[in-house]
Amino acid sequence: MKRTHHCNELRPAHVGQTVTLSGWVHSRRDLGGLIFIDIRDREGRTQTVFDPSDLPAELFNRAAALRSECVITVTGPVRLRPAGTNNAKISTGEVEVGVVSLEVLNMAEVLPFPVDDPEAAAKVNEELRLQYRYLDLRRPEMARNLRLRSKVATATRVFMDEQGFLEVETPTLFKSTPEGAREFLVPSRVHPGQFYALPQSPQQFKQILMVAGVERYFQLARCYRDEDLRADRQPEFTQVDIEMSFIEREDIYALIEGLLRRVWRTALNVDIPTPFLRMSFHEALNRFGIDKPDTRFGMELVDFSEEFRTSTFKVFSGAIANGGVVKAINARGLAAATQGQIETMTEYAKSFGAKGLAFIKVENGEWKSPIVKFFSEAEKNALKEKLAIAEGDLILFAADQWLTACEILGKIRLYCAEVLKSQGKLTIPADQFNFLWVVDFPLLSFDKEQNRWYSSHHPFTAPVAEDVPLLVSDPKKVRGQHYDIVVNGVELGGGSIRIHQPDVQRTIFEQVLQIPPDMVKARFGYMLEAFRYGAPPHGGIALGFDRMIAILCGTPSIRDVIAFPKTAKGTDLMTDSPAPVEPKQLRDLHLELKVARKE
Ligand code: ASP
Repeated sequence: MKRTHHCNELRPAHVGQTVTLSGWVHSRRDLGGLIFIDIRDREGRTQTVFDPSDLPAELFNRAAALRSECVITVTGPVRLRPAGTNNAKISTGEVEVGVVSLEVLNMAEVLPFPVDDPEAAAKVNEELRLQYRYLDLRRPEMARNLRLRSKVATATRVFMDEQGFLEVETPTLFKSTPEGAREFLVPSRVHPGQFYALPQSPQQFKQILMVAGVERYFQLARCYRDEDLRADRQPEFTQVDIEMSFIEREDIYALIEGLLRRVWRTALNVDIPTPFLRMSFHEALNRFGIDKPDTRFGMELVDFSEEFRTSTFKVFSGAIANGGVVKAINARGLAAATQGQIETMTEYAKSFGAKGLAFIKVENGEWKSPIVKFFSEAEKNALKEKLAIAEGDLILFAADQWLTACEILGKIRLYCAEVLKSQGKLTIPADQFNFLWVVDFPLLSFDKEQNRWYSSHHPFTAPVAEDVPLLVSDPKKVRGQHYDIVVNGVELGGGSIRIHQPDVQRTIFEQVLQIPPDMVKARFGYMLEAFRYGAPPHGGIALGFDRMIAILCGTPSIRDVIAFPKTAKGTDLMTDSPAPVEPKQLRDLHLELKVARKE
């Protein structure tokens, strides 16, 4: 019996046809003499009815013995459901199949968790879901995510092809370049004591492809970073990786805006407005306290450095005298914040090195706060006016160096928004997507502990042309030709115009980043050499593909859009990896373990 239709296909127009469906037993109801089985495949589900008067007893008994997730094929006529029994929730809800023939293709044991009930599934422990991922992926919500991912990958490829890009695969056995995140190493058997590294991104290969004259490259590239995993990171992930020659920043903006428009249209049937807003790194921090601002709500940071410069409240005036600033936000409607919530926010402030958190609760017409008594009338009026303070507000302050003050309030702002959302005082429509480009990042950041400059993005990012003379004399002032694309407070990707002149690249490596010349040669020699043979000006970007799909699916976790993700500890619970290897394998690789072998 070969299937004639899928399980989301039958409609009243099919009534009278004899059809064959194959799939899994989604649900089963025994109603006295009748058995109802919803059969499910990838596309959807259809109700089938087993009536002993239509079936040989032996087949009916077999139907009675079926359990959830057994695999079956059924044949029978399509008919309208009896009046009043339609199921408006599914597209096949007006019809059913009266089974005359059943083939049991495979039985299923009792499942470790139900796959037919979204509410029950939401309560299942994620580790169990990961261990039985093949069952988890049967759930319609997960199947939808995989399907959307595939559609978006195809739309991306089609769009990039239309724009003249070539998809080129770059190696995943690469060379170690221990600059950025920690890498996964792969020992070489043939070259004792030598290692490959899995690439953190195809950055160097894609730049070399520009030297090779490819001009427009893209790849859905798998990247690997051996970082201590934070909640929403994976040790391997996918990027839409792009590089182009003979371009400026504007060309990348236009390309990506076009790509994202196509993707959003394909996935959600939504037209996102372009061009996207642009904001400098400085403005993003100054107004939102973060370099990936969520602009779907206000609660912006307001500066009070002028007002408190000569204040008798020394915590504020002292910070300003130290070269710092005083900033505040108004968390509207959060005056009733609990002690626990205030403590959480205070901990955030302390994690950035602040001593505590100054705040004012506006309740019953009163400003409740231990610090208000130090404020002059003029200071109070300034606060009232610039923050539009009203009953029920919670005002939070940071008095510190500019960056620290911004970052403290940026973190608290997001926390307050979460609390307000949970209380129904802040609502953000699910289909609102605020895209923006963050630009003009500082090229370099200073590492106090190591007492040296490092690249804010990566060492291949070009400085803004007019800042090049400052590279060695005043690195702090140099802006990079880097851009990040942000949506709803999530960094979707980033890239830059690259350095293509070997002498500028060498200056960055040796004089700015202070990498010894022999190390530069060992790590990047081939790149510097390639640049000497006619490197075109070029630039590119990479978008986090998993993250983009998670946003499109409306799920907070990228694990929900990766078929076989790893846990936060980097383990694969289904295959139980990483795992020990045989001593012989280690010997072949010329390796010896310093830790006891874990069985
Ligand atoms: N390779 C960079 C990254 O992975 C992106 C880029 O500069 O194109 O973040």
